[in-house]
Amino acid sequence: MTTPQFTPRVFSGIQPSGGLTLGNYLGAIKRFVQMQDEGIETVYCMVDLHAVTVWQDPADLTRNTRELAAGFIASGLSPEKSILINQSQVPEHAQLGWVFSCVARMGWMQRMTQFKDKAGKNAQNVSLGLFGYPALMAADILIYHATHVPVGEDQKQHLELTRDIATKFNHDYGVDFFPITEPVIEGAATRVMSLRDGSKKMSKSDPSDASRINMTDDADTIAKKIRKAKTDPDALPSEVAGFEDRPEARNLVNIYAALSEQSVEDVLKDVGGQQFGTFKPQLAELAVSKLSPISGEMARLMNDPSEIDRILARGAEQARAITAPILARTYEIMGMVR
Ligand code: ATP
Ligand code: MG
Repeated sequence: MTTPQFTPRVFSGIQPSGGLTLGNYLGAIKRFVQMQDEGIETVYCMVDLHAVTVWQDPADLTRNTRELAAGFIASGLSPEKSILINQSQVPEHAQLGWVFSCVARMGWMQRMTQFKDKAGKNAQNVSLGLFGYPALMAADILIYHATHVPVGEDQKQHLELTRDIATKFNHDYGVDFFPITEPVIEGAATRVMSLRDGSKKMSKSDPSDASRINMTDDADTIAKKIRKAKTDPDALPSEVAGFEDRPEARNLVNIYAALSEQSVEDVLKDVGGQQFGTFKPQLAELAVSKLSPISGEMARLMNDPSEIDRILARGAEQARAITAPILARTYEIMGMVR
């Protein structure tokens, strides 16, 4: 249902709300790189305005933003091929975010499961920004007229909301101005689960470091976390159907499949029947072999933060060439005096 007059453009973002995890890498960044290399115009963003919907220590936010940029570049995103930006450096995101706060309905926002998960029992005490987050996310995407957004499974509902906001704006003002964006949720690991609890998604903001593999973890830490990952006493199944009621087993094999770029069925042909004691060290070795070149390059890039800042400043300039006219046209459509 993508509106045909829009040229393909990819946008996606990651919060500098902690260090990058294996979930972010497999669910998002790997796909970002593929889409960049397919030659589509791509814009990738460190969404710092989203990160501050929950408390961020200022020094940590600065560091995490630069480290996220380093993670993007070390994973294969190139400032020559993609526009790489920090959200707060492109003010049109927040400006369109306000407009969309006026388009989205309270009832739509109250259905968002990420808010319910993050607010938990504390809903009266979390920030208004955490509640409004999806309206800003819709603006992040639509301020570029992005047609495709690669994300993990957990973002599906926010992408649907983005489509609803675009549709309502277009309808209310009688225009065909914002595209109806397509989510791109593909691959073996669109939802990597916590290593401690197979019913919870792996998250960089999870208080338990043992729940996740960080992109910057060293080989020993990765091996230890995988060794301690929650599992059950049974051997691995030979077929996918054998994962029924075994979310932790499914998760580890999904991770293996995604890292080795094989289907889960093919992985099970090799490892079906193995005990976890045999499988886990193989998974750890594979994870280290894929992550250590990236974390090594991240560390090298982090030695020169001013170079990262230069890349982001240039990205913001390139981005504003797209976002400023789209915001101006939005205000004009709404009848705002310019
Ligand atoms: P936070 O805990 O602060 O929300 P996060 O780890 O969920 O952090 P985000 O910045 O919210 O990371 O999400 C960045 C991208 O990574 C999104 O596309 C999201 O869908 C994807 N992603 C996050 N966690 C996972 C996961 N466990 N598996 C697959 N993709 C994921
Ligand atoms: Mg998240």
